[in-house]
Amino acid sequence: MVNIKLPSHIDQLRSSLRRFVDEHMPREEAARWDKENTFPRDVFDKLSALGVMGSTIPEEYGGSGRDILATLVTIEELSKRSLAVSVPYIMAACYAGMNVLECGSPRQKAELLPLVAAGKMLFAYGWTEADTGADLASVKTKGTIAGDHIVINGAKRFCSGAEICDYIYALVRTGDQAARYENLSVVLISPKLPGVEIRPIDSMGMKGARTTDVTFIDVKVPVEMIVGEASGINRGWSMLTSAGLDVEKLEVAAIALGIAEAACDDAWDYSQQRTQFGRTISTFQSLRHQLADMRTQLHAARLVTYHAAHRADADRPDRVETSMTKLFVTETARKVVLDAQTILGAYGYVRDFDLERYVRDVLLMPIIGGSSAVQRNNIANWLGLAR
Ligand SMILES: Cc1cc2nc3c(=O)[nH]c(=O)nc-3n(C[C@H](O)[C@H](O)[C@H](O)COP(=O)(O)OP(=O)(O)OC[C@H]3O[C@@H](n4cnc5c(N)ncnc54)[C@H](O)[C@@H]3O)c2cc1C
Repeated sequence: MVNIKLPSHIDQLRSSLRRFVDEHMPREEAARWDKENTFPRDVFDKLSALGVMGSTIPEEYGGSGRDILATLVTIEELSKRSLAVSVPYIMAACYAGMNVLECGSPRQKAELLPLVAAGKMLFAYGWTEADTGADLASVKTKGTIAGDHIVINGAKRFCSGAEICDYIYALVRTGDQAARYENLSVVLISPKLPGVEIRPIDSMGMKGARTTDVTFIDVKVPVEMIVGEASGINRGWSMLTSAGLDVEKLEVAAIALGIAEAACDDAWDYSQQRTQFGRTISTFQSLRHQLADMRTQLHAARLVTYHAAHRADADRPDRVETSMTKLFVTETARKVVLDAQTILGAYGYVRDFDLERYVRDVLLMPIIGGSSAVQRNNIANWLGLAR
């Protein structure tokens, strides 16, 4: 069981992140990054100076030691203010740091991990395709090995952050389509290579590291950029389903938690300022109960997230618990944010208030990182429910 008291370094981390957010991520700027769909690289660089990029990386590679709880608390605190900073943080610490550590060759670890820890290496995930959503084993983007290169042809959809990343962490087919899980490989593709074309997709939320369509036409990538190098060829599926995937679900849960906490705080404050019928609306029992329920639901969501993080840190991740956490926290967060919106009434529906952005952002969370339906399938299957 988790130790209910959080370690003191987590309290310190949270305090320094809150100071950072107050100083470098004011509300007006967060609203602007959302409106302009822009990545504030200068803020990200200042964040790197706090040392948080190395929270998934052992000290021998320049990190601060693998600490999943610290990583999730960082995501939560940044997501309270802006996904334009929290998502690029995930692209560095999690997509790059955790995957290279778990799946990279010794040379890739030595070269890439110190860059991640320094905030100079962002990966975008190139998994989804036009015809491939939940069923990732059906990807069609092809990688053909030709001498010392692998030649990539195909297209990825919803590749978030492709324009700001150093490499797309792309799942490609390195053999016959019918083999499904058996001949997939992961390749690090620089978005600057000839033959890579990126086109933004106009999504509802998660602005900043905007999501894109990426096309590859005869893109020549050196074979040493296959993750794991020679021994990584055709091992893509096991890389995708490694411990990193479990943590990915927790990353999405931590984003959702941060958004919902911000929404709840805003509704709490608003209810004590807004006056109707000669009294603040926080004095109406229906609102008091709704706000009390929201706080209670968030408390439960935070506990399950931290418990799953604790198990991941103890090298005892439990796939059922991780799926339950992703399902429960993202669905709870969506409910809390929509409840917060009703408390703000008409002001929860206009762009002058942050709540409108929280709604757009939180609606994505039960969709990405494995939809709620996929998590329910996992939970029922892994707990042995007869089919
Ligand atoms: C803003 C945004 C950012 C994204 N960023 C990335 C990214 O960076 N990299 C990336 O690779 N992808 C990304 N995605 C893609 C995202 O991960 C996929 O949308 C997700 O995997 C679901 O795929 P799909 O939308 O094609 O749905 P589908 O898989 O087509 O599913 C459609 C519906 O059917 C349900 N369903 C599917 N299979 C089952 C089943 N077996 N049982 C029951 N129900 C099922 C789903 O729950 C859903 O309701 C992003 C998407 C968005 C919108």
